[in-house]
Amino acid sequence: MLIKRGIAVSPGVVTGTALLLGSEDFRIPRTVVSVDAIDTEIARFHVALENVCKEIAENQRQAAEELGKEYGDIFAAHLAMVRDPKLIEEIEFSIRDRCFSPEFATSRVLRHKAKVMQNLGSHYLAERAADVFDVEKRLLRHLLGERREELTQLTAPVLVLAHNLTPSETANMSREFVLGFATEVGGPTSHTAIMAGALEIPAVVGVGDFLSDVSGGDVVIIDGNDGQIIIDPDEKTQAAFRDSEQKLRTFLERLEGLKELSAETQDGCQIQILGNIEFPEEVDHCNARGAEGIGLYRTEFLYLEKDREPTEDDHFDAYCRVINAFQGRPVVIRTLDLGADKVPTTFRNPLPESSNPMLGLRSIRLSLRNLDLFKVQLRAILRAATRGDVRIMFPLISSLLELRQAKMILADVAEDLEEQGIEFQRDLPVGMMVEVPAAAMLAEEFAREVDFFSIGTNDLIQYTLAADRSDPAVANLYSPGDPSILRLIRMVLAAGSAYDTPVTVCGQMSSDPKFIPLLLGMGLRNLSVTPYIIPELKEVVRNITIAQAEAVAAHALTLDLARDVESYLRGELRKLCPDLVP
Ligand code: PEP
Ligand code: MG
Repeated sequence: MLIKRGIAVSPGVVTGTALLLGSEDFRIPRTVVSVDAIDTEIARFHVALENVCKEIAENQRQAAEELGKEYGDIFAAHLAMVRDPKLIEEIEFSIRDRCFSPEFATSRVLRHKAKVMQNLGSHYLAERAADVFDVEKRLLRHLLGERREELTQLTAPVLVLAHNLTPSETANMSREFVLGFATEVGGPTSHTAIMAGALEIPAVVGVGDFLSDVSGGDVVIIDGNDGQIIIDPDEKTQAAFRDSEQKLRTFLERLEGLKELSAETQDGCQIQILGNIEFPEEVDHCNARGAEGIGLYRTEFLYLEKDREPTEDDHFDAYCRVINAFQGRPVVIRTLDLGADKVPTTFRNPLPESSNPMLGLRSIRLSLRNLDLFKVQLRAILRAATRGDVRIMFPLISSLLELRQAKMILADVAEDLEEQGIEFQRDLPVGMMVEVPAAAMLAEEFAREVDFFSIGTNDLIQYTLAADRSDPAVANLYSPGDPSILRLIRMVLAAGSAYDTPVTVCGQMSSDPKFIPLLLGMGLRNLSVTPYIIPELKEVVRNITIAQAEAVAAHALTLDLARDVESYLRGELRKLCPDLVP
């Protein structure tokens, strides 16, 4: 049994069989075989082995011919490895004596060898482990042949383990069969982490190197509450997890009762709690948790999910589904935030290469350079807005000129619809995200030109502290409690209050219960959050007075280190709602 720690990004605990993505983007269908099938399975292993030997020999010949003998020798080493009688004996033993399927036996034996090489302390040998993985992959490919199962066509439940998952890979995962996932890299507000929250499946990211310790088909526990994964758990551990899962369920059932109650502080101040969504289906999650509307609809996921560019009708249909589910309640549709890590992989890629995509042509900048793409979306929003209380929001605004340009295009699109006699909503509120420090600093100027602000702390933190939100190596710097972030939020709240411009926080900071007293104390009254957390946030709101929250904020703002702010806030939350602090 091996325990690895990472960052918990979506709660819940799940036990299941591992599917390793990247090294074998297919799953090992069976881990064991019946005793009477053993001879046939060993024969099947030998056929695969023979084919792999032929394939490697052919690679060796070609490489030697085209590149020179020394290149051919790389494959000669692979050939020697697969022909090693001790290796063959070991795999045969696993099949015969442990009834492992040839796929599972091959993966386990070779991964164990690779791990030993990685740990010998020699850089050269550690790098050679890649050759062992390569051989594993070849053997698995031959063993699985036609029976290989792609990630998008799973037929049985799995836990996905990967070095990294892009938001589009995550968006395309089978929601029925992926029970949870864990990745070696990724930070708490990476889009992959956000997607896990949206799918409401347990997930842990930023685990560091662990893929060489696990084989496809191994039993694994993903603990999205405490941020750990357990490989090959013993029976005692599995029982303990079942027990704590039961306790968690009881706790969540109690919170479920809060659904119908309003988010009102003890002294009667109403706090608006809205949901963040990526897919129209999530409206059910929001309604089930008592969200008062949608504060952030990340529409770019429409692009990440489809194998073609969405049409105006695709946009329109998706928006109508959300608006219909929230009759009489606000729905904030954010225009496309494509680029950087949210890059569609499956259709015409409109994104130019950039050496620093996070600072490059992403989000509103990309929309303003691709007006046909932008206008298709704006038309759909204006048309759908006749169906409910829709507001439009522009992401990543960094200058007044950019905001004015975006508003001008919106006016052009309205004029086109008017001329074409198509029904649309003319006066919908226009807001912007504050997620670039420049926008926070100019909040007063912006407040005169927008109907609302929504603070995107996920990006605001990465741009203020120059720490990539997905990179665990700088996760120590990436902190919502950093005094610089609190000051920027304070500036936006002050501008909002001076110009009567409502402010929401829709970054992950407001989905973390410990920040609620601080944010309320600073004057925030609107939160837009990951739907599953709504009951916990209501619990915090209902246990505090505004005066108490103001005292917490006043003290937190005197602290000069992020870690002091966060530990102070954790302590305050423990006093208010002990159940919510692990
Ligand atoms: C943010 O940056 O805080 C935000 C809500 O937008 P996204 O996470 O989609 O970048
Ligand atoms: Mg953002």
